[in-house]
Amino acid sequence: MTTLQDSFGRNIEYLRLSVTDRCDLRCSYCIPQGFHGFETPEHWLTFDEIERVVAVFARLGVARIRLTGGEPLTRPRIADLAQRLCALPGVSDLSLSTNATLLSRYADDLFAAGVSRLNVSLDSLDAPRLAGITGRDCLAHILDGLTAAKQAGFAPIKINMVVLGGENEHEVESMVEFCMEHGFILRLIETMPMGDSGRNARYVNLQAVRQRLQQRFGLIDGVVSGGGPARYLRSVDGGFSLGFITPISQHFCATCNRVRLSADGTLYLCLGQEDTLDLRSLLRAGITDAGLQAAICEAIARKPERHEFKEQPNKIVRIMSQTGG
Ligand code: SAM
Repeated sequence: MTTLQDSFGRNIEYLRLSVTDRCDLRCSYCIPQGFHGFETPEHWLTFDEIERVVAVFARLGVARIRLTGGEPLTRPRIADLAQRLCALPGVSDLSLSTNATLLSRYADDLFAAGVSRLNVSLDSLDAPRLAGITGRDCLAHILDGLTAAKQAGFAPIKINMVVLGGENEHEVESMVEFCMEHGFILRLIETMPMGDSGRNARYVNLQAVRQRLQQRFGLIDGVVSGGGPARYLRSVDGGFSLGFITPISQHFCATCNRVRLSADGTLYLCLGQEDTLDLRSLLRAGITDAGLQAAICEAIARKPERHEFKEQPNKIVRIMSQTGG
């Protein structure tokens, strides 16, 4: 097996795979209300095309795949896709990010298909506030989804909370308590200036929040496996972990190990740059697997050193759900 390395010596071993750019929520910092810029479904990679691309990545040493979107559970037969990807030689870890509104319906099938890890987005435990952020009254569905996921056997489940100034910033303590009680790992995320919606969100620097929570809950430095960008604290007994994803206040590009494939087959080499490879055109023009492999290797060599969210906050026009969050 080959390994994929970029021109900065970083090994690329993780693919975030968007299966749709659509979502059943309209989070204020992500998809704007009334947004009409969605891809036509004919441009979405088919399951056969996705399987081919993932097989090539797996042969290049990319063993970890995350299904994301948009909202991946809105793509019909998502558990079938998960099963097909898990069966591919070289794929050792298939995970999924979801807003959990549909999770109670799919948790058992996803677990049976081989999905090993779940990340659930949840920005508030206050139903009206969550409805204000997401555009929909959805807390009860999400909590049902979390219960179903635990019952299905997913462990540990990670909760992702985007911290928004003036909205849910004061709720981080109660989210910590909720996650401690339920055995969830919590990760707090800084807003990224992706699209006007991302730029308009009130950014909160999480370094001060980290200090506040560390003191309040007596947390110490910790590590959680998964290879992601979060920096962790944990409780002394190890029962609870709290991660911080801080692309603005302390970016993590030097250890970036990932690329993203959007639903329309565009390979994004960096979340915060425009460098891409159009895999859909290559696939639909009849490229061989060897050709695909060569094109992917050539693209990885072009992976940018880092994003410039801080230096050039107006640069990225596309919203998160178009790239695949
Ligand atoms: N629908 C799935 C979910 O809710 O997790 C997967 C896709 S969603 C785009 C992935 C993550 O991106 C979510 O945690 C969401 O909160 C986050 N996100 C979207 N836009 C963002 C932004 N501008 N800044 C920071 N995080 C953002």
